[in-house]
Amino acid sequence: MKILIINCGSSSLKYQLMDMDNETIIGKGLVERIGIPGSRIIHEVEGMNDYIVEASMNDHKEAIKYVFDAITDEKHGIVKSLDEISGIGHRVLHGGEKLSEPVIVTDEVKEIIKENIKFGPLHNPGNLMGIEACEEIVPGKPNVAVFDTAFHQTMPDYIYMYPIPYEYYKKYAIRKYGFHGTSHKYISYRLPEVMGVGREEINFVSCHLGNGSSLAAIRKGKCYDTSMGLTPLEGLEMGTRSGNIDPTVVTFIMEEENLTPQQMNTILNKESGALGVSGLSSDFRDLEDAADEGNERAKLALDMFVIRVKRFLGAYIAELDGCDAIAFTGGIGENSKTIRDMVCKDLEHIGIKIDPERNDIRGKEQLISTDDSKIKVYVVPTNEELMIARDTMNLIK
Ligand code: AMP
Repeated sequence: MKILIINCGSSSLKYQLMDMDNETIIGKGLVERIGIPGSRIIHEVEGMNDYIVEASMNDHKEAIKYVFDAITDEKHGIVKSLDEISGIGHRVLHGGEKLSEPVIVTDEVKEIIKENIKFGPLHNPGNLMGIEACEEIVPGKPNVAVFDTAFHQTMPDYIYMYPIPYEYYKKYAIRKYGFHGTSHKYISYRLPEVMGVGREEINFVSCHLGNGSSLAAIRKGKCYDTSMGLTPLEGLEMGTRSGNIDPTVVTFIMEEENLTPQQMNTILNKESGALGVSGLSSDFRDLEDAADEGNERAKLALDMFVIRVKRFLGAYIAELDGCDAIAFTGGIGENSKTIRDMVCKDLEHIGIKIDPERNDIRGKEQLISTDDSKIKVYVVPTNEELMIARDTMNLIK
């Protein structure tokens, strides 16, 4: 069975065609600069040169037409006809309270995606447009929506509620939702496999550290708590996002600088975090290099990131009813031995002990704690596309 996975960002779109008989990638690609001059599609098939088409693409619908053209292209294509594709899995950012599982797209599901545009204004519109384009271009093909929020819907109310007047929850559904759910869910399946235990036998903390970062406390396969909130802004310091700060900082700066809510949102989402603190870059490779060369603000941004990861890690170990393991994933979690080492440093007294030799790896599944570490620490590369493809296959079967 072949499944197409589509991940529409605000101005980009990633796609991947998977053969689910052996869970391998047949081909994948990226459309960049949708709605901006200079749009292009880069289509990659292993063993072949990249196929690049530069053309004006005004919206996601036009972009998806180019995706289907590339997939079926006579020379560079990966299927002879679109009939070979059994279903399409779409990554959708915000499913709100009504959707706690991947679902086959119906009019009602599309309404829910629309309803949640208020909480995901940068992503939900593009996600919806991607779905509608597929419905139009390949009618009758099942579309499945897989929500970043869905995995976290098992959190209890005392965790997802904010301590603000209850009426705002009733009126606007303001609460913690959590994101990166597809990644944390993948880890919730893969880590027990790597450890050779049942999914319901362990409690662990999943640390997805990338350009966006979140931790999730996972109890017996289910999310108990996670660090992102109503939107992906809450929680850790990230590449360009502030994460948790005193809410008064926001109102103070808005008043002093005479800013609109939208301007303040941009500052908190795009100009803060490691970029805002360092004044240099949101990319952790750049920051590690600069810190090594003595750049104080790059070092400060990294130290601030690490202490926040440690803070959530400690909180989640306390929240779990016994913690068996920690998994690092995401661009930073999978690749940076320095950050992993800094996060786990001086935690031997709570049973976390890193083995420097085991930790000296990039991007592969490995135990990185010592044999006597009470809490086992692993690197587990995430695979959100595979999770979406599996969810899609299971629903359409
Ligand atoms: P993601 O959003 O998961 O793709 O992760 C992107 C982040 O991972 C960027 O900040 C990258 O700098 C970071 N990253 C990738 N490779 C490394 C590495 N070898 N060391 C440190 N950070 C890395």
